[in-house]
Amino acid sequence: MSHTAPPRRTAPLRARAEIDLAALRANVRALRARAPRAALMAVVKSDAYGHGMVPCARAALEAGATWLGTATPHEALTLRDAGIQGRIMCWLWTPGGPWREGIEADLDMSVSGMWALEEVTAAAKEAGRPARVQLKADTGLGRNGCQPADWPELVAAARAAEEDGLVDVTGLWSHFACADEPGHPSIAAQLGVFHDMVDHAEKAGIEPEVRHMANSPATLTIPESHFDLVRTGIAMYGISPSPELGTPADFGLRPVMTLAASVALVKHVPAGHGVSYGHHYVTDAETTLGLIPVGYADGIPRHASGRGPVLVAGEWRRVAGRVAMDQFVVDLGGQRVPEGSEAVLFGPGDRGEPSAEDWAQAADTIAYEIVTRIGTRVPRVHLNEDPEAFETSGKHPHE
Ligand SMILES: *Cc1c(COP(=O)(O)O)cnc(C)c1O
Repeated sequence: MSHTAPPRRTAPLRARAEIDLAALRANVRALRARAPRAALMAVVKSDAYGHGMVPCARAALEAGATWLGTATPHEALTLRDAGIQGRIMCWLWTPGGPWREGIEADLDMSVSGMWALEEVTAAAKEAGRPARVQLKADTGLGRNGCQPADWPELVAAARAAEEDGLVDVTGLWSHFACADEPGHPSIAAQLGVFHDMVDHAEKAGIEPEVRHMANSPATLTIPESHFDLVRTGIAMYGISPSPELGTPADFGLRPVMTLAASVALVKHVPAGHGVSYGHHYVTDAETTLGLIPVGYADGIPRHASGRGPVLVAGEWRRVAGRVAMDQFVVDLGGQRVPEGSEAVLFGPGDRGEPSAEDWAQAADTIAYEIVTRIGTRVPRVHLNEDPEAFETSGKHPHE
């Protein structure tokens, strides 16, 4: 159990996100088996997609991940401050760095353009040691990364900086636009461009330790994209990158997060009673209403008003009316559920609860956004933090 979260069960919690680290480890092992010749980078950006960055990073390393990946340098430095060693790569830099801190923390730092190469070499000069740099190619995503036309200039400058002892190019990499749509023509096109850009860099004298392109959907469905390293995020948290590709179970994955709240009030109301702001729900008969004490400030999408599913007393209920900032209501259809009963918004499904994917569909979004946006007011309770304890008991707590 995490030391940062309040103790479970002893003090009932308004709401909590239970994070099953045994499931996360098993997911990492399943993903490694999918890409047996590649190393695995556990992508733990954005607080590990809302699951708690440091405990998730540790669990992923325990299960055989050898790289960690973050978007921002701040996230990467936070991992180092927590005492995590080994390779950490971060890719979303803005002018000003902090390049020097990145060099001193032994980060692998992505460079997509000349401005970044200039800043990182200047910082390396000041630090008196070379910077580990990975050159990012825009092979078609059209987001970050260096365009093919600008690549020769960036590669030549990086090579010159290597000669000067200021950088060490440890990787060449890129990112897919449509890896979650098998057969999409952009996949083969991006792979072709990546091969060309890698060839160019290697002919120019760059000797990358790792070449990499694959995110979760590519790791699961495009073996020819695995190269030396795969960068898995969402699948490691037990969520399918896209429902069209398959369920988590189809890939041997188990959802890591369970979001639950304690029913705060149950009351009888007459027929014709409006519920929540705007009265978009009106009871059609005398019934009972249950108050669920989480709202959009906790990351429950307001867009799922009238639709989001919750398991209460063994049955799926839908959000009645609008999701408010701190709470929403479910119609319990006359059932008298005791206050303090558990309402499960989503989880792995063992008890018949909805999934994060169900909430994504209720809110017209993707499950990535559902878990990532769970707010800081919801404590993360990390279960199965000790890998030994789990391995020897051999029994999953939900089994
Ligand atoms: C977030 C991210 C990933 C992980 O993507 P998933 O689809 O969650 O596996 C990989 N690479 C980059 C560059 C990313 O930004």
